[in-house]
Amino acid sequence: MRLYTHPVCLQHAPGPGHPESPARLHAVLAALDRDRFAALDRIEAPRASIEALERVHDPAHVARILASAPADGLVRLDEDTLMSPASAEAALRAAGAVAAAVDAVLNQRASRAFCAVRPPGHHATADQAMGFCLFNNVAVGAAHALAEHGLERVAIADFDVHHGNGTQDIFAREPRVLFVSSHQSPLYPGSGGAEETGVGNLLNAPLPPQTGSQAFRQLWDERLLTRLDAFRPQLLLVSAGFDGHRADPLAQLQLDADDFAWLTARLVDIARVHAAGRVVSTLEGGYDLDALAASASAHVAALMA
Ligand SMILES: [Zn+2]
Repeated sequence: MRLYTHPVCLQHAPGPGHPESPARLHAVLAALDRDRFAALDRIEAPRASIEALERVHDPAHVARILASAPADGLVRLDEDTLMSPASAEAALRAAGAVAAAVDAVLNQRASRAFCAVRPPGHHATADQAMGFCLFNNVAVGAAHALAEHGLERVAIADFDVHHGNGTQDIFAREPRVLFVSSHQSPLYPGSGGAEETGVGNLLNAPLPPQTGSQAFRQLWDERLLTRLDAFRPQLLLVSAGFDGHRADPLAQLQLDADDFAWLTARLVDIARVHAAGRVVSTLEGGYDLDALAASASAHVAALMA
């Protein structure tokens, strides 16, 4: 199993006090530096190509992000999405990690990969940076799998506590991509109602605050995993946000690290049945550093199993 990351992802710094801090990725990488993860094949993430980015983003958006990193200080793209001098390069490496990981699993150099990258991606729409996200990393990977590898069925499972509105926006009319998402509602960004079904390729499962482990697992078991299984994905991508953890300051879903391990194992099971075990997961949210480290460790350990 591969671990993709890049030092520049630690340099994207949206400002003091911002929850999407470099300390998040430091915490994840420190946790993955322990002996139990010694078998991970560590790869430096390449830059995404412009072609790969423009499969899911308007060329004007790509150009705007690449031109917006300031020489010093910060540039604000929306209320909570900011760029520092290293941000454009970090965004290129974050998206490039997922595309490269897709190549690795489809060329049988690995069966699974985790992309420990930031900025996160799932809120970035075709033409807009938002919610701490600049490029939609998981969408770049999915589109790359369709275009470069000729896949006909790619599934994206998004268990971040926030709805992956950007991923949904990009693939809402693309029947080769199934997007399944559980998320807290009401919560930012406000989308992700059960009635949002795209061309029959979206499954949105909003959850109330205080949902907890049992109801979360039951929902995935009965609805989202069932749907993934029926779709028979040739590749499974994961938007792995850990902000559903009970310690997270941005949400109240009340999950534990064990829940992420459980769900990851179920996702691997589905990938083994339909996709030769191929799973590419990428880091999205998670804002309590200890909970993030424990949850990401549990997730990666389950991917390695
Ligand atoms: Zn989130």
